[in-house]
Amino acid sequence: MLEGNYQKFYNEIISTVSKKYIYTDKLHTLAYGTDASFYRLLPKIVIKAQNAYHVESILKLASKLELAVTFRAAGTSLSGQAISDSILIVTARTWTKATLSDDKSLISLEPSITGANANAILAPYGKKIGPDPASINAAMIGGIAANNASGMCCGVSQNSYKTLKSMKIIFHDGTTLDTGSASSKVSFLKSHETFISDLLAFSQEVKADEVLSAKIAKKFKIKNTCGYSLNSLIDFDDVFEILQHLIIGSEGTLAFIKEITYKTVIDHPNKASALVFFKDTKEACAAVTKLKLSKEIKVDAVELMDRIALKSIEDEKGMPDYLKGLHVDVCSLLIETRAAHKEDLVQQTQEIKELLKDCQTVRELEFTDDVAEYSLFWKIRKGLFPAVGAVRELGTTVIIEDIAFPIEDLAAGTLKLQALFLKHGYDKALIFGHALEGNLHFVFTQDFASYTEIKRYEHFMEDVTQLVAVEYKGSLKAEHGTGRNMAPFVELEWGHDAYVMMKKIKNLFDPQGILNPGVIINDDAEAHVKNLKPMPATNPLVDKCIECGFCEPVCPSNVITFTPRHRIVANREISDLQAKEKLIEAQDLINAYQYDGLETCATCSLCSTLCPVGIDTGSLTKHLRAKQITQADNKKADFIVNNFSTVLKGMKFGLKASNITHNIIGTKAMKNVTSTLRKISMNKMPKWSPTLPSAITINAEIKTPKSENKVVYFPSCISRTMGQSKDDAEQDILFDVTVSLLVKAGYEVIIPQDLENLCCGMPFSSKGFIKQANEKSSQLEESLRYATNDGKYPVLCDTSPCTKKMLESFKGNLKIYEPIEFTLEFLVPKLTLIKIDEPIVIHSTCSSRKMGLHDDFMKLANMCANEVIVPQDVKCCGFAGDRGFNFPELNESALRNLKSSIPANAKLAFSTSKTCEIGLSEHSGIDYNSILYLVNQCSV
Ligand SMILES: Cc1cc2nc3c(=O)[nH]c(=O)nc-3n(C[C@H](O)[C@H](O)[C@H](O)COP(=O)(O)OP(=O)(O)OC[C@H]3O[C@@H](n4cnc5c(N)ncnc54)[C@H](O)[C@@H]3O)c2cc1C
Ligand code: SF4
Ligand code: SF4
Repeated sequence: MLEGNYQKFYNEIISTVSKKYIYTDKLHTLAYGTDASFYRLLPKIVIKAQNAYHVESILKLASKLELAVTFRAAGTSLSGQAISDSILIVTARTWTKATLSDDKSLISLEPSITGANANAILAPYGKKIGPDPASINAAMIGGIAANNASGMCCGVSQNSYKTLKSMKIIFHDGTTLDTGSASSKVSFLKSHETFISDLLAFSQEVKADEVLSAKIAKKFKIKNTCGYSLNSLIDFDDVFEILQHLIIGSEGTLAFIKEITYKTVIDHPNKASALVFFKDTKEACAAVTKLKLSKEIKVDAVELMDRIALKSIEDEKGMPDYLKGLHVDVCSLLIETRAAHKEDLVQQTQEIKELLKDCQTVRELEFTDDVAEYSLFWKIRKGLFPAVGAVRELGTTVIIEDIAFPIEDLAAGTLKLQALFLKHGYDKALIFGHALEGNLHFVFTQDFASYTEIKRYEHFMEDVTQLVAVEYKGSLKAEHGTGRNMAPFVELEWGHDAYVMMKKIKNLFDPQGILNPGVIINDDAEAHVKNLKPMPATNPLVDKCIECGFCEPVCPSNVITFTPRHRIVANREISDLQAKEKLIEAQDLINAYQYDGLETCATCSLCSTLCPVGIDTGSLTKHLRAKQITQADNKKADFIVNNFSTVLKGMKFGLKASNITHNIIGTKAMKNVTSTLRKISMNKMPKWSPTLPSAITINAEIKTPKSENKVVYFPSCISRTMGQSKDDAEQDILFDVTVSLLVKAGYEVIIPQDLENLCCGMPFSSKGFIKQANEKSSQLEESLRYATNDGKYPVLCDTSPCTKKMLESFKGNLKIYEPIEFTLEFLVPKLTLIKIDEPIVIHSTCSSRKMGLHDDFMKLANMCANEVIVPQDVKCCGFAGDRGFNFPELNESALRNLKSSIPANAKLAFSTSKTCEIGLSEHSGIDYNSILYLVNQCSV
């Protein structure tokens, strides 16, 4: 039972929003309530709003019952602005429509589309959106606009404020306004007469105040996200322009952004970067000032990295050796310039070199336009924040601060900031940032578990705020938003008059104070050191997690249940409760975690590819599954290990039986019967699909012509059991196709002995049966060692996930290949490929991606077809071995965008794993087959 008006709210809102999108239990409110900041509030109710109607209804009701609401996009905010102890409205990941204008100069975006996906839509036209936060792969448009987020290149000229064209807004009482529609504006003018006249009056008041106007103009010359966008009051006369620009950077405290239309910006294709090392910080900052103030110079990004920052990554793999030899005072700038044409780029780099020729550098200033070289420079820069995260002590938090000095004070301000680090004992704090905008981030670790440590942080922040806001009149938050973190200091930075104006704005938009209270405007002088998030240890596999949320977009369960971050947050809480001996509470969470946390994790490990500290939450899932294994389960697994071929035969029998029934009763009846049976069995019976393959038997005794080129072919147990589905256009089985392809390329094919008993071990390890998995993989390695004459011949495995498992488990030096790599290395040189003249679709499995083979897959596909389509926003298919049968909702959700991403004329699709192909075929409506079919088809 919820307290007070919350129960009333719940009872009423369920008539509009389905209960399945509403959460009130501890596990879900905790997991969904967590953002990337170091603050924690536990929402009473979390609602995943699927559309604008949901938001309007929630706001109307919350307004009626006077309950606070906070909006949430991707939850990557760092200042505590995306959390709530009341109602948290999370915009659903499916709320992602994007519309491009005919000339591509405008793009309208719904709140949940990520910045990266918006840019992917614009990329073919040489365009992008202006705002470019480093978090752009995860951050969503609602959050990007509401934080006025920015990054390395956009500066103050291409942020959301500057590139905003129009906006669809939902106000606190559920009223909507579309500033791009004349009729909407007319009706708003009628219905909100007082609001409009008050807003205009605010603008006139500020414009009439020369001192305040001048201050606002000066402060927004550099990046500033501290407080409201007061510049809208002086930049515009049109009341709707003022209104919509005030929403930018308002952190969900003024209204909800239902859709935003941005003016797109040009993404120049030619880029050159230089990593320049200056004698010291002063010299580097002087160079920045020169670059900023020079009118002729075209420079797109200037990133400062101090010596401690460079030190944090100098030992990492792939870093240049010379980093280690740099003097302790050295400070570096990463300078990037971009141009439409190559010749312009050359000229720009020369001009920059000329401008900086008198600066004292410790290495020669050289630009490079080589992608690999400049990517390394940017890798250094992007690795800085995670580097601190990766080495922080257990239980501590990584804090990233985000200030800006006026450009002329950059050197002096930075030196004094470094002195403050020493004064307060933060001697490992490192500095990097977008120096061209005077914007510096400093990163340090902080223990919030002890009172003394909290006080140390508090005193440090007092000094920092005095230095930045008072001494140098800079910005206390340049791009991350005010949140709770800087709310107590907004008045310090802006002064009384500006702060009063901000309060008036808040009151005008949100008279009841229900929109994200405590954020931006907060009378509590200690708000920044309250509600601090604990970071208890749970498992070394995930303890380094900084809860940034970068892993969330790629997780196949991110729409239906949990993301990796949710899983980690939940486990931290469970471990904490256990450590405090609150075992009943812990067990309740463990029980609640079973489906969202364990059953629907595909153990695909794709999260590790986006995690800045390299965490693979799939390994935590496997560990937790292993913990649940009972003696009886172990016995069953042992039985399967020892009777593998019999079990495969049983599987074949099941497939055969279902296929026979399918043939007799037809697809429609089969679907009805099996889905009813599945319901009756409470989803215990696996799902049947028309793309389910038929059972097959392969000829493992096959003899191919003798050749000096030998290859050992290991068909995975899936390829040995599952053939084509009944209605597939392609009816040849993978084994036969592969053998004929290998023979065509002149290989003698060796099939390992005792094939029917061989397995890489993955079906066991993904369920936590580690002992049994190891047993199977050792047995396979032994058999392959024999077949390859002790590693003399390469091994082709036809299934990527199995290949990856073999590569990870095998102890010896066998040369193991999956289809893509094998084809490129061993078949392409021996065959002539003739491109087919029709589009093909490809799907890189998670394993291929993790093995770094996606680009190779593209390369191979492009050798075989004139047009290759990689469906956008489809990563892990969520089939995960057998999960697609038992939890088909995971597969369905992961592939929800597949069909719409495939053009109607594409009829051929390829991948490298049979089980993935089953789900891909079902959800796309076209047959997916192994890429080896295509290679066979187009090779002579
Ligand atoms: C490692 C790391 C690096 C980062 N780097 C940068 C950087 O370079 N530059 C930068 O600017 N930021 C950076 N950030 C901070 C953050 O990622 C960005 O500000 C991002 O734009 C927030 O987007 P989000 O989708 O996560 O929004 P959320 O965190 O979910 O929300 C942000 C704010 O917007 C509000 N909000 C969300 N949706 C709506 C809506 N539809 N209508 C109205 N209000 C809404 C929320 O209430 C909240 O106040 C970084 C964060 C991390 C963890
Ligand atoms: S697992 Fe990695 S990417 Fe995901 S929230 Fe944790 S640190 Fe961030
Ligand atoms: S392993 Fe895959 S499904 Fe599991 S948390 Fe990571 S991305 Fe999500």
